[in-house]
Amino acid sequence: MPKNNRNDCESGSERIPCGLPRGKRANEKPGPLPGDRSLSGACSGECQPPRRAIGRRSFHVEVASCTLDCPDACSLLVGKDRQGRIRIQGNPDHPFTAGFACRKIGRFVERLHSPHRITTPLLRAGGKWELVSWNDALNLCAEKIREYRREPASILHIQGDAAKGVLKQAGKLFFARLGAGTTEGSLCDAAGYSAYDADCGSRCGNDMADILHSRRIVNWGKDLCRSSVHTAALLCEARRQGTRLLTISPGGDGNGPFSDLCVRVRPGTDRLLAAAVLQQFLERGRIRTDILKHAANGPEFLNLVMKQDRAGLCAACEVGPEDVEKIASWYLEEGLTATLIGAGLQRYDRGGENVRFINAVAMLSGNLGCSGGGSYYHRPTLRNFNLDWAQVPPGRSRRSLLLPVIGREILAAQDPPIRMIWVNGSNVVNQAPDFREIIRAFEKVDFKVVVDGFMTDTAERADLFLPSAFMLEQEDIVGSYLHDFVHHAPKVLDAPGEAASDYWILSELGGRLDPPIPLPDPDACFRAPLASPYLDVSLEQLRERGFVRARRPAVAYAGMRFDHPDGRYRFPAELHDEPPPPPGYPLRLLTLIRGDAMHSQIPPDRHPSVPPVWVAPDSAALEHLRTDRESWLVSPQGSLKVTVHRLPGLHPGVVLYRRGDWAKLGGGANQIIAAGLTDMGGGAAYYRQYVRLENVSKKSSGTQQNTRRPAARRFTG
Ligand code: SF4
Repeated sequence: MPKNNRNDCESGSERIPCGLPRGKRANEKPGPLPGDRSLSGACSGECQPPRRAIGRRSFHVEVASCTLDCPDACSLLVGKDRQGRIRIQGNPDHPFTAGFACRKIGRFVERLHSPHRITTPLLRAGGKWELVSWNDALNLCAEKIREYRREPASILHIQGDAAKGVLKQAGKLFFARLGAGTTEGSLCDAAGYSAYDADCGSRCGNDMADILHSRRIVNWGKDLCRSSVHTAALLCEARRQGTRLLTISPGGDGNGPFSDLCVRVRPGTDRLLAAAVLQQFLERGRIRTDILKHAANGPEFLNLVMKQDRAGLCAACEVGPEDVEKIASWYLEEGLTATLIGAGLQRYDRGGENVRFINAVAMLSGNLGCSGGGSYYHRPTLRNFNLDWAQVPPGRSRRSLLLPVIGREILAAQDPPIRMIWVNGSNVVNQAPDFREIIRAFEKVDFKVVVDGFMTDTAERADLFLPSAFMLEQEDIVGSYLHDFVHHAPKVLDAPGEAASDYWILSELGGRLDPPIPLPDPDACFRAPLASPYLDVSLEQLRERGFVRARRPAVAYAGMRFDHPDGRYRFPAELHDEPPPPPGYPLRLLTLIRGDAMHSQIPPDRHPSVPPVWVAPDSAALEHLRTDRESWLVSPQGSLKVTVHRLPGLHPGVVLYRRGDWAKLGGGANQIIAAGLTDMGGGAAYYRQYVRLENVSKKSSGTQQNTRRPAARRFTG
């Protein structure tokens, strides 16, 4: 097996603009960043020059914010050029955004003006969509809610993160006051969050810029060029200063150019690799007793690690002993090592355990609770706000369904069954596993409302479609799950046609109910979150300044004082093996993040008619597959027509799929992924799914795909 692979990615790698001009600091003082946060200077050649700045003098430019579901939460400059086209770039005055944004923002602009965008309410009548006025649409919703309100748990609210912000919490408050059912668990990072809670007692991390104080960095599973371009730029800067970077991943992720060393791991076995590294620590006698004092169960955990069979661990994760030694040295050599943990490695059955064992490596090497060390993962986006105003009224219990198995949960719900579903900010039918079960579940529900801007896989299942305003078309205040800046996201564009914000829709609806459900006015929804111990800014000041930095320490768990009641760390109590692939399905299906669009927010005319997948050139799947012929990705749930490409560096047991494309347009990997839960947190265990590739006729396959591109439609009456 090849070692230290450099994973140059052929599946559309992002180029990160590292050589940025140092931006002017904001007119307000956001607080010092540790180290020299300048992103100036030459880079290694993987960078691209700074994008041309929007000409501030040629037209009016506003400071806005990206509210997409992205950790970077950029501050943006938005303007229109002389031709009236929207121009967006990263704000050079923002210390973290540093003047650049990613490719996804370009796709977002396409969505703003897409001819496929629906800007009028639509009602399904006799199997066809018909235009309907807002008045009639809201009266119909009020009538349905009046009918189902006798048993409010028969109404299910599903809210996603299509756009983030504090005002979005008003939607949750509305349905909580109604007593409607809600969802729990997550389609993203729930297992990792729970792992941090179990280890540290909370979900804190060092300030991202503190990574410039690290001597070495371990990027454990993060796709730098697609998941967070500003983290990638920061790491480029750290490397220019002499920091070395090790990447551990199944490959195929474009991390090679950012890394000094890459180690390829069998997907899903990160905890076993971490255990092998911990054995190395023990063998070298490098576990410090002063560190063990900060943990509640240190001796028990070391016993657990010691009794593992070293050769068995290496064989299971397919990493040779010499690479295990290199990883151990990376953590133990002089100077501090920071660890970045990707979201992907928690999407397995044992996702939480994967994260906990990596954290144990950081902890036992003395790299937690100090500047230059730290374990970086997503943090709660709204952690810096006071959200007391949006909490469920005390004393009211609500039904809660697990989102990763939502189809099964809806079908099983009794006393009362689900009779109405309201979906906003989510393409749940496309994004959650087991597409067909969700469709069956939706078909059994009497009345479905979907608030969106496009006829997505979810909207196709609705009875009433309500057109949504997008980011930049509504005001909000937003945080980040990566950095500690809080942004004002002003309305800088008028929503087209009759598109409206979630807040407006629910305020109007609430007034039509009996008894009514009033929402606080928007300014109250903005002011209340700012009354937080981490913020010292009024709404007026935030509107004026655009962003402020929350008061958070640069170092999390300083002095190894953790957030459990006794202040001590908790190691995991068990280590589980990773089972082999099931008979007939030898390839692990990894549905990884895209670089060019946010999740399923892909303009309808940007979907490939047949989705591409990638396998390693040495994959056994290629022995019996003709890639020049029709190819199918097959699981016990069904099959999906694909085109097969080779990707050097990818683990040979993997099929890589870029997630988010719609089933109605020929994609939709969740058609062939079974629903299941991670070991912690109620996360979606997408990567438990094994598949095979085969050349079969469409007739004999289980899935018929609609591969036609849609004609541009407007429902404007
Ligand atoms: S998607 Fe992320 S990187 Fe791109 S503009 Fe938005 S916040 Fe910035």
